[in-house]
Amino acid sequence: ERQKKIRNFSIIAHIDHGKSTLADRILEYTGALTKREMQEQVLDQMDLERERGITIKLQAVRLTYKADNGEEYLLNLIDTPGHVDFTYEVSRSLAACEGAVLVVDAAQGIEAQTLANVYLALDNNLEILPLVNKIDLPSAEPERVKQEVEDIIGLDTSDAVLASAKNGIGIKEILEQVVHKVPAPTGDPDQPLKALIFDSHYDAYKGVIVYVRVMDGTIRSGSKIKMMATNKTFEVIEVGVFSPRMTMVDELTVGDVGFVVAGIKNVKDTRVGDTITDAKNPAPEPLPGYRKINPMVFCGLYPIDTSDYNDLREALEKLELNDASLRYEPETSSALGFGFRCGFLGLLHMEIIQERIEREFNIPLITTAPSVVYQVTRTDGEMIRIENPSHMPEVGKIEYIEEPYVKASIMVPNDYVGAIMELCQGKRGEFINMEYLDANRVTLTYEMPLSEIVYDFFDQLKSGTKGYASFDYEFSGYKTSKLVKMDILLNGEQVDALSFIVHRDKAYQRGKVMCEKLKDLIPRQMFEVPIQAAIGQKIVARETVKAMRKNVLAKCYGGDISRKRKLLEKQKEGKKRMKQVGNVEVPQEAFMAVLRID
Ligand code: GDP
Ligand code: MG
Repeated sequence: ERQKKIRNFSIIAHIDHGKSTLADRILEYTGALTKREMQEQVLDQMDLERERGITIKLQAVRLTYKADNGEEYLLNLIDTPGHVDFTYEVSRSLAACEGAVLVVDAAQGIEAQTLANVYLALDNNLEILPLVNKIDLPSAEPERVKQEVEDIIGLDTSDAVLASAKNGIGIKEILEQVVHKVPAPTGDPDQPLKALIFDSHYDAYKGVIVYVRVMDGTIRSGSKIKMMATNKTFEVIEVGVFSPRMTMVDELTVGDVGFVVAGIKNVKDTRVGDTITDAKNPAPEPLPGYRKINPMVFCGLYPIDTSDYNDLREALEKLELNDASLRYEPETSSALGFGFRCGFLGLLHMEIIQERIEREFNIPLITTAPSVVYQVTRTDGEMIRIENPSHMPEVGKIEYIEEPYVKASIMVPNDYVGAIMELCQGKRGEFINMEYLDANRVTLTYEMPLSEIVYDFFDQLKSGTKGYASFDYEFSGYKTSKLVKMDILLNGEQVDALSFIVHRDKAYQRGKVMCEKLKDLIPRQMFEVPIQAAIGQKIVARETVKAMRKNVLAKCYGGDISRKRKLLEKQKEGKKRMKQVGNVEVPQEAFMAVLRID
């Protein structure tokens, strides 16, 4: 019957190994889209995604494929986000599948996220179909990469598809394997409804569009549904599929992947990983694997121009509609005025939101350095969570502080092991283990404070290994640390937005470098500006920005008007990015300076 002809699968890969390109070719091959419609990568819809070459939103496309055996199959291709910040979303979209195509670049071989994604697929009991991509490259070594997949992952690669997504080679082969190797969905249409939510987005006309995979039962318009994690109930208005355009269907039943519209106003009511059931005939248990996810990284967002405050709030409201993991609340800084404290899944998530606010909503921002969430146990026994360094209680009131740790896996060629170990130790990493993948490559595992990764770990990793290292991490828990709050004073005034938390052993060094950095970043003013770093009352470092001596315009002798104008415009441009703090003008970069220390 119909269920036996459904195949739900995903494509998993390390970033840039060709997942999106392969998805495009599959859409093209199955006739879901014509070549002309393919001009743009369909699965990566947002500009930002395309520019950064990453996929943020999950998507699901229904395809029909006529196999060599003459039978027609219904394939649901579920796309997954390609970055460590979104691991939980990846795991839930994989939970909606029975199989995964594992794309490995024929020149690069296995990378850290290849492995991380394979583990997620194995956790979800998926059939994994290896595909070696980019065989057209002169540097391709498909046989070596196949061997690597056998040795490191333990998958049989005798049938691995050798493909070039770019040139459309291997597309039919992989579709045949999807049909023959990926199991059809199991599940019972007569049981109470169980549908897994693996994504959602907000539509101005229809409200929230929920992406679901039906595990048991059937869902149709008019159904009364209940979200099992939140207990909220809704009446279904529409169900449909993406083919790839939104297309209404009569019902979604066992094995189907599609969307549900139910007059839902808030994406936060449709939590990824939650189970939709029938409100009148509910399932006794939700599907396994639901977790409530919490933001890991916080920063302050302040409009440069205070009159943009309301626009900023509206921008955040709009972004929140489509982003259940974005958090924000109003915050006031004595230095920066009115703004918002925002919480993100990770650094990339944070950068994406900042960029969207600036680009789509046109609001120039001052962003404060990202911070992790500290758990502070006070001397009165109460534990508080600190998302903003400037809210850290005074030293005398703190019993102890805990900070979040992650387990980081770094995959590198042998030659860089020394460099990586040095880097990780410098970042307070605790060595866990080292594993040889083959004669040339090693996976190093460290337990590290998340805050050290938030500082420029990625950049240092890349530059320290000429780009050869790949990296993955997961939250591992809170640990007690000897941390102190470092305050920065400009012209004798404490600037709350520049405070940061640092390990006691690194405090003096960081304070000193921070002052030096700020000295370079803060332009000369009409008066001398002392910059000081302090722990509590104690000044640990000091630098001075000398007073301005000559007029900038004095440089252009009289006549050259256009040059003068350019200079003025440039100054104005620079001004936009300045914030008046007390009587000192501080550029945006200064608030991020703490990230460029070490
Ligand atoms: P993703 O990050 O895994 O989604 O990777 P993309 O599909 O965005 O591809 C990353 C880069 O590799 C792009 O520049 C693609 O054009 C290129 N690429 C993808 N497949 C192939 C291939 O088969 N051969 C070659 N030479 N390049 C490819
Ligand atoms: Mg992609």
